Amino acid sequence: MRLFRQKQDFIPLGLLGLAAIISLREYKTSQHFAHLSQFYFQSEVPASGNDGDDEPDEEKRILGTQQRSLVVACGDTLSSMLKDMGISLQDIDAITRALSKHYNVKNLQIGQSIDVVWESGEDASKLTRLETVDSAGNAIKLEATESGYTTSVCKRMLVAQLKSVSGIVTTNFAIAAQQNGIPNAVAHEAVRALTPLINVGRLKSNAAFEIVFEEKLDANTKKLVGKRQLKYAAVSVDGKLHKVYSFGNRYYSESGHSLKTEFLIVPIRSRSVRISSRFGMRLHPIFRVMKKHCGVDYEARYGTDVCAAASGVVVSACSYGGYGLYVRIRHANGFETAYGHLSAILVRKGDCVNQGDRIGRVGSSGHATGPHLHHEVIRHQIHVDPQKYLSIGSGKLTGHDFERFKQYKDEIDRTLKEDNAHTLSGDISV
Ligand SMILES: [Zn+2]
Repeated sequence: MRLFRQKQDFIPLGLLGLAAIISLREYKTSQHFAHLSQFYFQSEVPASGNDGDDEPDEEKRILGTQQRSLVVACGDTLSSMLKDMGISLQDIDAITRALSKHYNVKNLQIGQSIDVVWESGEDASKLTRLETVDSAGNAIKLEATESGYTTSVCKRMLVAQLKSVSGIVTTNFAIAAQQNGIPNAVAHEAVRALTPLINVGRLKSNAAFEIVFEEKLDANTKKLVGKRQLKYAAVSVDGKLHKVYSFGNRYYSESGHSLKTEFLIVPIRSRSVRISSRFGMRLHPIFRVMKKHCGVDYEARYGTDVCAAASGVVVSACSYGGYGLYVRIRHANGFETAYGHLSAILVRKGDCVNQGDRIGRVGSSGHATGPHLHHEVIRHQIHVDPQKYLSIGSGKLTGHDFERFKQYKDEIDRTLKEDNAHTLSGDISV
């Protein structure tokens, strides 16, 4: 994507997310973004009747000293950006080699800002200065000298601060998040974090939410460094409060229970659970051929309760070929679980279920020789052995870890109290 032609003005930060995910061609063809493309990408948009692929730019190069803040978009490399400025390939090579002492140019991040100063000539341009800040907040500086380029690095002091935002859903959560100024990446992460508890995509209007995220600023310039991190998300629906705290690399409920999906429980509510067929190749009991068994069969009496192996959202609840009556649940972190041969389904598509909730009853619908539960675990679209993901512990923080979690939670709660006149209330969901 060529976003940084000489003729263009500085591109507002707000558009970068769009720029990163939508190709310029899509801008041109999309009615919805037509006004944006004409305004921000004037030099790229042909007047009419042209797909914009084949017409060379006839604009004239502006000569003399130029200065600009470039922002890395999807598909950009340092080389491509310098090339767009008119820097020769030989110089690009020298610049990349000089930078490599302090910085790997392959580590450029989408949205990263690069300040450049260059001399624009008739035939080629010459870079005189380049400054950027890496993901760790270090300032990288490159300057042209008579013999080539020199680079230096300045370790920066970072200040972390927590920010809280609360709001009410009117149309849907995505729009409400945007209207309340929650950065896109934080809003996406909040949806992901809350998925084990509630289907955020289907939140009704008037649902209240709170988000706390952390951002790191350069101590001197007060500019944002790196990505914003979600620390806490809560939604209150029908008087029920769903809260998640990010701690370490996981999300926890207020009581310190991990919401990580790896902690699956055996989905049968019965005193004695017996596995009648394991995951892997087996002689199919009905078709008498060797076939991979994509799940685990639990032997159980007809009508025994079947429960959700982890919290999530029901994505199927129907009759499904050889599976008979079938329920499938989507969980966090790319996990899904499925339950087949049921005699009754107790949930509907779109329902949010907590770990251990009743979702159906054991039966022998579909291709089954007798009453049993066929249980599958799917991770990133691939069937995996459910037994490898059974809960080893409860996933609850204990001892010193729990003390640290409590301190962390108190800090989040203090931020919420300071920033909001009143915080969300309701029964805690977990
Ligand atoms: Zn089976």
